[in-house]
Amino acid sequence: MSQYDVAVIGSGPAGASAAYSLAKKGISTVLIEKETLPRYKTCGGGFVFRGRRNMPFDISPVVEREFYQINLYFENEEMMLTTKRDVPVISMVMRDDFDHFIIKKAKELGVDVKEGHKLNGITFGEMPTLHTSQGDIQAKMIIAADGALSPTAKMAGWKETRKLIPALEYEVEVSPEDFERLSQEVRFDVDTIPHGYAWSFPKKNHLSLGVASARKVRIDLKAHYRKYVEKLGIKEVISEKAHGFQIPVAPRTDGFYRNNVFLIGDAAGFADPVTAEGISNAILSGQLVVEAIAEAELNPQKAGELYQSKLEEDLLPEVITGVSVSKWFYSQRMIRNFLMKKYGDYFISAMTDVFIGDRSYPRDLMKSLKRKIKELV
Ligand SMILES: Cc1cc2nc3c(=O)[nH]c(=O)nc-3n(C[C@H](O)[C@H](O)[C@H](O)COP(=O)(O)OP(=O)(O)OC[C@H]3O[C@@H](n4cnc5c(N)ncnc54)[C@H](O)[C@@H]3O)c2cc1C
Repeated sequence: MSQYDVAVIGSGPAGASAAYSLAKKGISTVLIEKETLPRYKTCGGGFVFRGRRNMPFDISPVVEREFYQINLYFENEEMMLTTKRDVPVISMVMRDDFDHFIIKKAKELGVDVKEGHKLNGITFGEMPTLHTSQGDIQAKMIIAADGALSPTAKMAGWKETRKLIPALEYEVEVSPEDFERLSQEVRFDVDTIPHGYAWSFPKKNHLSLGVASARKVRIDLKAHYRKYVEKLGIKEVISEKAHGFQIPVAPRTDGFYRNNVFLIGDAAGFADPVTAEGISNAILSGQLVVEAIAEAELNPQKAGELYQSKLEEDLLPEVITGVSVSKWFYSQRMIRNFLMKKYGDYFISAMTDVFIGDRSYPRDLMKSLKRKIKELV
């Protein structure tokens, strides 16, 4: 049976970049992926600059478009907020190409990539055995990067404490006239769907359109998508492919390490709670767990403690603030719109600084928001 220091389950941005960083540190690594690669991943494919600037290599070969400006529209309001930066605030990627690009980089550094290997079970012990659809593998430590459903987390005994929201995304081919018009901007349309937003992300030759609700409710996403297509004034849809999935937008409350298993990316619940943008924190959490494993000299328990403290330092405060901001932003529509009319330029500029990695959400953001509301009423 093959043995490794670390087995990474899932080859999305979290798993592939963790595997890359492990190999870079000379740690023997296997990357286990159930699909045949490259595989399609349901995602808008908007990669924010804070993630891009954090990449250990240039990803331009898989970037389809770059946007230096973002536009935020509000339903039924005469209001559009816009902001521009001198770096690509959002880079558009197709996730099959993007993820595969990182996997290939990891492979070049010596990572053993096992595609078409579905993890079915784990026998825990000092040296856990992973039972895959194509045989058993042993590894001292396991990194669960297997996304929103994270079967690995379930196998290791985690209960569900994340908040998962529904999202629907379409890859849409439109007429050349519509594409020419709509490919000029990245746009977010707040309230186009109740307690959520719609987006239009232009790719090389098509649009990625989608809707997401920040509330975990039963909702007819398809009907809201149809309305959005109408709202965008799209006259002809040449082809469209629908993909629905869930996004975890609140971190687990019962830890990120146990039984030699570390959780990263969506498996941990690290997507931004306001925007549901998950790629950048998936990559960051992958880097943090590798630092922890290396600093702990492959001692699992010590690495678990270090990983927790690194998350508390670099990632959790922002995500936890994001959870409160998201609740407020999507449920207090009237007060929010009132504040946006007054302070919208400041808001979108601050959000953009978060997107590009120049700042994080201020830890006392909710306090200052409440202060502002009191001043105004
Ligand atoms: C509709 C939609 C739109 C989105 N749009 C954006 C966006 O524009 N920008 C953004 O930043 N984020 C977006 N997100 C969120 C983003 O897609 C995720 O946060 C991100 O993919 C998380 O990366 P990950 O590596 O943790 O998991 P994933 O990318 O989900 O990768 C998990 C991998 O694990 C594999 N796997 C699962 N089970 C097993 C198993 N048993 N054995 C082996 N392998 C397994 C899967 O096949 C997959 O390859 C969107 C999500 C949705 C649903």
